[in-house]
Amino acid sequence: MDKECIGCGLCETMCHKQAITIGENRNGSFCTIDKELCDNCSVCKKICPIENIKIQENLSDVQHVAVGRSRDENVVKVSASGGIVSELLIYLFNTEQIDAAIVAHFDEYANIYGDIIESANDVLRHSGSYYHTSKQLINVNKVRKYKKVAVVGLPCHIEGIINYCHLTRQEEKVIKIALFCTVGRTYEGFRKFFKKQTGFDVTNGKVKKYISRYSDKKLIHIEDDVGNVYECPDELYKFSMDFFYANKSCLNCRKLYGLSADICIGDAWHRVIEKNGIKEKMAIISANTTYGSQLLDILQKNLSLELVDNGPLELISSQKYGVGLKQLHNERIIRGLACIRMLRYFNENALMHRVNCRIRGELLNRLALDTEKRKQKLKAKWNAPEGL
Ligand SMILES: Cc1cc2nc3c(=O)[nH]c(=O)nc-3n(C[C@H](O)[C@H](O)[C@H](O)COP(=O)(O)OP(=O)(O)OC[C@H]3O[C@@H](n4cnc5c(N)ncnc54)[C@H](O)[C@@H]3O)c2cc1C
Ligand code: SF4
Ligand code: SF4
Ligand code: SF4
Repeated sequence: MDKECIGCGLCETMCHKQAITIGENRNGSFCTIDKELCDNCSVCKKICPIENIKIQENLSDVQHVAVGRSRDENVVKVSASGGIVSELLIYLFNTEQIDAAIVAHFDEYANIYGDIIESANDVLRHSGSYYHTSKQLINVNKVRKYKKVAVVGLPCHIEGIINYCHLTRQEEKVIKIALFCTVGRTYEGFRKFFKKQTGFDVTNGKVKKYISRYSDKKLIHIEDDVGNVYECPDELYKFSMDFFYANKSCLNCRKLYGLSADICIGDAWHRVIEKNGIKEKMAIISANTTYGSQLLDILQKNLSLELVDNGPLELISSQKYGVGLKQLHNERIIRGLACIRMLRYFNENALMHRVNCRIRGELLNRLALDTEKRKQKLKAKWNAPEGL
C-alpha cells in the first residue's frame, strides 16, 4: 500500500477482511494493514485516490462559471460560502433526482466523516465546511441500496468516488459535487487551535453541535453536551494553522477545483461584498459536464447567481494561492512549505513562531505571484474585462 494517504476512509470500508486502520500522525493521515488478515486482493490499491490527485486539472473542462449565493438567509447562516451546495441538494431531493446524499458530519470528538442523508430536511444540519480531515467515503458502500446518490466531497474524495464507481460498475448512480480545496488540515491542528482559542478540548468527547463558518461572522461554533457554547473566527484558524498543520500528502495534490465532478463550488473571495465591515459569504460555481450545466441553469433561476462569462479566468482570480500551488506547483515552494511544517514544533517559542510565520508569508507571496503569472497568460488569450 502506498505510504501516502489523505484519510478518506475508502480502503477501510472496502476491505473485505477488515484489515485496514486509518490514523493520523505528525505527517497527517496514514493507513496500516494487518498482514495477518490481508489476503492481497488489491482492492485497496485499485480504489485509493492518492495517485489520481497528482494529475493536474485541465481548465478546458469548464463549461460555465457563476458567482452568487442563496436568497434564503436561513441557508446562508449555516453555510460556508452562501449555501449553493445545500440549495443544490435540497433541489435534487425535492425533485426526486436523488434518494440519498453523502455529506459531512461530526462525532462527539469532532472527527469528520461522510454521513448518508435521505431527505431535504436533513441537508441544513450538514451544511458548512469542516476544515480538517474527513473520512468522507467511509459509508460509500451504502450507496448500493439507493437509486441515485449525490456525493459531496473535496477533489480527492471525488477522485475516490470515481474509482469506487468504476470498480463496482455504478458510474450512472452518482452525481458528483466538489468543493474547491487549496490544502487539507489535520485533526491535531484543529484540536490545538480550538483549545487555545476557547479552552475547549474536542478530544474529551463532548461535542454535541459543530457548525463551521456559522452566521455572517463565520465562526467555528461548537456546543458541548450540557449546552455551553464555544466560538472563534474561522479565518483566524486558517490564518494561524494553514500549512503548519497541512496533511503532508496534500502538498503533492494538483486538484484545486474538483473538475472531475459535475459541478464544483468554492469561495468567490475576489467578488465578496463588504457590509458593516463584514465580508458577505459568496460562492463561485463551475459546471463541468452537461448535467452540471443543467443544474447550474436551474440554480440561476432560483438563486441570486450571476453568470460570468470569464470562464476559467474567474476561477483563477478566486484562488489567490491555490492556483500557484497546484497548477504551477513550483518544487522549491513546495519544499519550503514542507519545511515550515517541520518547524512548527518550535512555534511554542514566540520568536521562532514569528520567524516561521514570516517564512510562510514569503512563500504565500510567491504563490500569489505564480497565480498572477498564470492569470496574465490566460488574460491575453481570452481578452478578459478589466478588474479581474
Ligand atoms: C477542507 C476544505 C478546504 C477548502 N478549501 C477551499 C479553498 O481553498 N478555496 C475555496 O474557494 N473553497 C474552499 N473550500 C470550499 C468552501 O469552504 C465551501 O465548502 C464551498 O464554497 C461551498 O460552499 P457552500 O456555502 O455552497 O456549501 P454549504 O451549503 O455550506 O455545504 C457544504 C457542504 O460540504 C460538506 N462538507 C463540509 N466539510 C467537508 C469536508 N471536510 N469534506 C467533505 N465535505 C464536506 C457539507 O456536508 C455540506 O454538504 C474548502 C472546503 C473544505 C471542506
Ligand atoms: S487515501 Fe483513502 S483509500 Fe488511500 S490509503 Fe488513505 S484512506 Fe485509504
Ligand atoms: S489487499 Fe485486500 S485484503 Fe488486503 S488490505 Fe487491501 S483490501 Fe484488504
Ligand atoms: S489538498 Fe485538498 S483535495 Fe488535495 S488531497 Fe488535500 S484535502 Fe484532498
